[in-house]
Amino acid sequence: MLKIKNLHASVEDKTIIKGLDLNIKPGEVHAIMGPNGAGKSTLGYVLSGREGYEVSEGSVEFKGQDLLEMDIEERAREGLFLAFQYPVEIPGVSNMEFMKESVNAMRKKQGLEPLTAAEFLKKAKEACKQVNLPLDFLKRGVNEGFSGGEKKRNEIMQMILLEPKLCILDESDSGLDIDALQVVANGVNSQRSPERSFIVVTHYQRLLDYIKPDFVHILADGKIVKSGDASLALEVEKAGYAWLGDKSKEAG
Ligand code: ADP
Ligand code: MG
Ligand code: MG
Repeated sequence: MLKIKNLHASVEDKTIIKGLDLNIKPGEVHAIMGPNGAGKSTLGYVLSGREGYEVSEGSVEFKGQDLLEMDIEERAREGLFLAFQYPVEIPGVSNMEFMKESVNAMRKKQGLEPLTAAEFLKKAKEACKQVNLPLDFLKRGVNEGFSGGEKKRNEIMQMILLEPKLCILDESDSGLDIDALQVVANGVNSQRSPERSFIVVTHYQRLLDYIKPDFVHILADGKIVKSGDASLALEVEKAGYAWLGDKSKEAG
């Protein structure tokens, strides 16, 4: 699904990702943890192709293709989903229109017929129900005046509707309350399948009580410094990040 080799990336001429390797197979859930400032969010942005994030070295293969050659829309159409990809409000465009366009762009890419309004509505109703949002929510402008919890629910609804191949969820800085945490966990667990992979970025072990990752990686100073199974998250919770040494402690 994803093969990252020796990735180096910078933002505003500051090198943030410094030789990162990561391999993700279809169906796997990988959790990424690490001190604040380690580069977790930057990694997500680099993978999604966000403007201003420059790759200076290394390679990223997504489903056997060169991800770094694709622009941001191509990456999304190929099935890469980054929560927070659409944080901006788009006044005048309803959530419903926006999602229908996005879903049909992906279907076109896969050689499928576009969904009719009625077909989309049916799917949207199911997705709303799953994240516990009223259907009226879809009539509102994209992200217009959404509360924190609604944004989170909306993201998971987008993920359910888009049926991506690789989902990247960055929950580090989102200050999830127990309610939002359940929405995220239920969303991931319901969408888990042998064909779909997840990268879940999180500060706290708590989310991983609900989402059982296949692998846990510690990202520090732009590199993956330790990988293990789910038990590594418990170790980190007990020991913190002090064992990483002074450099990362400063960053944290
Ligand atoms: P994390 O998500 O692990 O907390 P980030 O990826 O947000 O870390 O940030 C990694 C480092 O990159 C930090 O030192 C941060 O200050 C820096 N950084 C992130 N975005 C920018 C930016 N737009 N301009 C300059 N520095 C940035
Ligand atoms: Mg941070
Ligand atoms: Mg972050």
